[in-house]
Amino acid sequence: MSTTTAAPASTQEDLNLYNIVARQFDKAAAYTDLDRGLLDQIKACNNLYSFRFPVQVDGRVQMFQGWRAEHSHHRKPLKGGIRYSAHVDEDEVMALAALMTYKCALVNVPFGGSKGAVRCDPYRTPVDVLERITRRYTFELAHKDFIGPGVNVPAPDMGTGEREMAWIADTYMAINHGELDNFACVTGKPVSQGGISGRTEATGRGVYYGIREAMNDEEDMRRVGLTTGLEGKTVVVQGFGNVGYHAAHIMQHEGGAKIIGIGEYNGSLYNPDGIDIDALRAHRMKTGYIQDFGHGCKELPTSADCLELECDVLVPAALENQITLENADRVKAKIVGEAANGPTSPGAEQILLDKGVLVVPDIYLNAGGVTVSYFEWTKNISHMRFGRMSKRFETGRGARQLELIESVTGKTIEDARRDELTAGPEEIDLVRSGLEATMADAYGEMQEVRRATPGLDDLRSAAFLVAIRKVANSYSQLGIFP
Ligand code: NAD
Repeated sequence: MSTTTAAPASTQEDLNLYNIVARQFDKAAAYTDLDRGLLDQIKACNNLYSFRFPVQVDGRVQMFQGWRAEHSHHRKPLKGGIRYSAHVDEDEVMALAALMTYKCALVNVPFGGSKGAVRCDPYRTPVDVLERITRRYTFELAHKDFIGPGVNVPAPDMGTGEREMAWIADTYMAINHGELDNFACVTGKPVSQGGISGRTEATGRGVYYGIREAMNDEEDMRRVGLTTGLEGKTVVVQGFGNVGYHAAHIMQHEGGAKIIGIGEYNGSLYNPDGIDIDALRAHRMKTGYIQDFGHGCKELPTSADCLELECDVLVPAALENQITLENADRVKAKIVGEAANGPTSPGAEQILLDKGVLVVPDIYLNAGGVTVSYFEWTKNISHMRFGRMSKRFETGRGARQLELIESVTGKTIEDARRDELTAGPEEIDLVRSGLEATMADAYGEMQEVRRATPGLDDLRSAAFLVAIRKVANSYSQLGIFP
């Protein structure tokens, strides 16, 4: 089964993601008075390693095309996912690497931006071949110094997950036997292999926190014609993979949203009364697709159909160029939350903005993954699970505080409540609270710049502007630019 379809046709605009990111950069850069040379340095992709490598398939040698782009070295190591896709190309990899630079800067994750890819169809390739591809790809990266805990640290992206990250870690460790920080060469690993609790859900959870931030802004909600808060609002999610599933699940369970539409590569589901996300996930795991789910859902023929459903929030969480000049004026959502990278073309974004739609940009909204990857990398180089040293201490301190409250008030706190109030944090609690704070702080920074910059009104330009200023500041402090 193939999981990608061609981007909606548009003859009127350039849908090359690299050019799109460059245009987004230029739009924001116009609001700075930074030196042109410095802006060119920030915008350019520093290195691109493009290579072909052999893998045995059915007893014969087959060549695969791989890439690793290093967009910016203003902070090290560099960070960015690895995409397995039959359609990926060099420009897409460079564009995604650039987005990583701006994303990391925006959410104060101290890494430069990078991205990697292998052209292969992860859904049709047997697992043993995927493993050989992953191990050989890792070896090629190591050979050219494009992977390492202090150099360049991959993570999952479309078509890859913790299984591939474990293979990457194992291959890297075999090459660099005995080095202390080996586990920090890649993030998104299984928890038992140096991973961190909460990484798999992190991007989707960050999407939830980001949309919640946007919907708590009274002025913006008044402008789009909604009351504040996600509770009870209708949401459509395109893409039911890692990011889309977790975002939908958490928005439904923790945010109280009604998920009325889900799109996949081969069609969409619609139910105005809400879709049970857990049941749909179980159905997809069993059958491999979202069709024939029942539960009162209407089936729509294409993935693009879900983008045009009447809803409060539309979350494209699949791939780039889904909302273009071709369909933007039929989008009825009041908020578009970009969980995928590059789902909205610049022409489409202008149409949405003219219609009064709030577009929450990808470089902010899907930054939860790299944020928790940063926590995982930090855990790997500190060699200790978060909370291990402090959990018991926090429990004791909580108990002493409750004793004091009881003695002052003369009242007794019931046991269940006492346990809840005194429990020291597990790693997952710390990860989630660190992610929540990161997304809230970054939203605040973005919004502040948006409101303080005359003539700038869209969140994407504000996000880029925050990022550009931070990267520029790094270069200046390093003495590279005055
Ligand atoms: P994934 O491979 O886990 O899931 C992608 C899902 O989209 C799959 O279910 C696939 O079948 C579906 N899909 C493919 N083509 C589609 C189409 N035309 N219409 C609807 N659905 C389609 O990938 P993911 O990790 O969830 O990544 C999704 C997006 O989020 C990508 O743009 C990726 O770059 C971005 N992203 C991912 C992470 C992460 O941590 N995984 C972090 C930041 C950004």
